[in-house]
Amino acid sequence: MKVYFDNAATTPIDTRVIDLMTAIMQNDYGNPSSIHGHGRHIKSIIEQARRTVASILNASPTEIFFTSGGTESDNMAIVSAVENLDVQNIISTRIEHPAVLETLNYLENTQRAKIHFLNVNKNGIPDLLQLERLLEETPKTLVSLMHANNEIGALIDLQKVSEICQKHNAYFHSDTVQSVGHEKFDLKQLSIDFITGSAHKFHGPKGVGFIYINRKNKVHSFIHGGGQERNMRGGTENVYGIAGLAEALKIAAEEREENHSHVLGIKRYMIEKLKGNFPGVLFNGNSDSDTHLCTVLNVAFPYPDLKDYLLLNLDMKGISASGGSACSSGSLAGSHVLSTINADHEKPNIRFSFSKYNTKEEVDHVISILKEICAS
Ligand code: PLP
Repeated sequence: MKVYFDNAATTPIDTRVIDLMTAIMQNDYGNPSSIHGHGRHIKSIIEQARRTVASILNASPTEIFFTSGGTESDNMAIVSAVENLDVQNIISTRIEHPAVLETLNYLENTQRAKIHFLNVNKNGIPDLLQLERLLEETPKTLVSLMHANNEIGALIDLQKVSEICQKHNAYFHSDTVQSVGHEKFDLKQLSIDFITGSAHKFHGPKGVGFIYINRKNKVHSFIHGGGQERNMRGGTENVYGIAGLAEALKIAAEEREENHSHVLGIKRYMIEKLKGNFPGVLFNGNSDSDTHLCTVLNVAFPYPDLKDYLLLNLDMKGISASGGSACSSGSLAGSHVLSTINADHEKPNIRFSFSKYNTKEEVDHVISILKEICAS
């Protein structure tokens, strides 16, 4: 039996999404920039996808731009804030995804912005009092805080952070790649400038994502070329991907409550089985709490001797999990998130992440394999 418990890295595509994309690939091949019928038809597919995404997030279609994924969207949000909105300071944390951290590094190294890192507590929640203090001292600031952490599932309170940013006249970007499709968004009720999404995290295709840019921000072209995406991102659009993203998000929104309770049920079942079978097991960043993202469970096993082998042994038995973020999935490289929250590096730390396709039988199988490995 093979088990896929690495859904924070990527999710299987929903067959309904595959069917829709296949039909478009077979029938609709025009270039969306062409003004003839074939072009207009395919363009209408993109615009329908934009309306779908906007309505699910309660945003305006003019605020949604399609990109190649979460990494590009995060780059675009942060770099555009510096280049177009006169941002000179960026406040963030050390537990962001590399899509954000490396962009910050680049801006700091090229002396285009000064970066300030907030402390985060052991559960991965940033210090919001420190944020307020910093904002009092730093004008022209972008706050970039991820909504849901991809390694430990910590969720920040977007409403609270957005109010703090609004009070201090700061721009607010949130990397929402792990939460879009899983959590509910109402962007008209939230004072936020940029959010980002990636289809492959919610059962859509890889290589396509979106950025929401609040309409009050006048941001210029990020990729120079043709006038696609209303002059913001040149290049012939990934039409199949965009249609697939919108369909996947539509399905995720329609089935959100059902999927949420299913996935949470799987996670709670796994927690119970782990506690019952492995005395001393811990959950990094409080990832066993119901206030965390339901898809992610980061487990510290009490067997230092297995530190370098547990993940590899699981893999050899057909079980896919992760030792950190997707970028280090399958590798034993230390996690910057676990280091920042002071998790115990001497223990094997494994991230299991679930989706609507996982079952309790799979949990039982993984537990029995874990027992075998840990007993040997
Ligand atoms: N941000 C977060 C929190 C992620 O988990 C990921 C993917 O692992 C990304 C950004 C990057 O998204 P993509 O793979 O679409 O570039």
